Amino acid sequence: MKIIDGKEVSASVREEIAEQVAKLKNEGKKTGLAVIIVGNNPASRVYVNNKKKGCEQVGINSYEYALPEETKTEDILSLIDKLNKDDKVDGILCQLPLPEQIDEEAVINAIAPDKDVDAFRPENTGHIMTGDYSFLPCTPAGIIELLKFYDIAIEGKECVVIGRSNIVGKPMAMLLLHNNGTVTICHSRSRNLKDITSRADILVAAVGKEKFVTKDMVKDGAVVIDVGMNRDGNGKLCGDVDFENIKDKCSYITPVPGGVGPMTITMLLKNTLTASQNHK
Ligand code: NAP
Repeated sequence: MKIIDGKEVSASVREEIAEQVAKLKNEGKKTGLAVIIVGNNPASRVYVNNKKKGCEQVGINSYEYALPEETKTEDILSLIDKLNKDDKVDGILCQLPLPEQIDEEAVINAIAPDKDVDAFRPENTGHIMTGDYSFLPCTPAGIIELLKFYDIAIEGKECVVIGRSNIVGKPMAMLLLHNNGTVTICHSRSRNLKDITSRADILVAAVGKEKFVTKDMVKDGAVVIDVGMNRDGNGKLCGDVDFENIKDKCSYITPVPGGVGPMTITMLLKNTLTASQNHK
């Protein structure tokens, strides 16, 4: 069994990003990311701080817009309109979830497609279907980078994704398909889940439930990718996979924390670099 070290892969990809950002700067193009955070969600604050730290590390300028909890949809839309026109801003990120009075879809759709570095807009998610993409959703793209870094072949493999969200499960399945995997997507209405997951050479869990994937659901020698970010009874960060009981059965496994998580932010930085290159 080998533990996939997301921090190591992330550091190596960030080095490449930093070189490219510095190259653009020498050519007179600075790279900038606007980060919008609304309200006082503590998890959102942690994510935003990590994203800003990541920007700093690779030489991207980050501009934070912290708005109060009672902000209205129109206020965010007019801020986004300003940022869409601002040349120093290459990417715009609005940290989700937003307070419930805000129309999340309207906010996502207000971001100009060329600045949609989270790849949440329908144009960007749609492009994933055809394999013609400039921005990829950060978490699935990060997982593909992890598999490539460890020389884990996808072609011809049985790939099972548990979860069908628009930001993780569906694009993950599509990227595995583009890499010539044979892909099955499972969800809460799937029957005989264990029979399906036990076939997987590559199993991706994106469910959001602690210890959801148990030992009997995993094939000997499988590669197990844990996307989950949950809190256990003691408030400790944990994934969807029963890591301790499964790890010896796998050929590769991602830990939580330190697996998929660091790659997600790195892919955001990569998308921001791509946006900056396109704007130049
Ligand atoms: P989500 O939108 O809540 O989707 C969860 C998926 O799991 C749904 O498709 C749901 O099926 C499926 N599911 C729920 N119960 C199931 C069951 N009993 N059997 C089979 N499938 C079941 O969540 P998400 O946004 O994709 O996120 C998933 C997890 O990844 C969360 O823990 C989240 O915090 C984490 N995450 C981590 C990162 C990272 O950077 N590491 C990034 C994004 C998300 P239905 O569609 O039928 O309801």
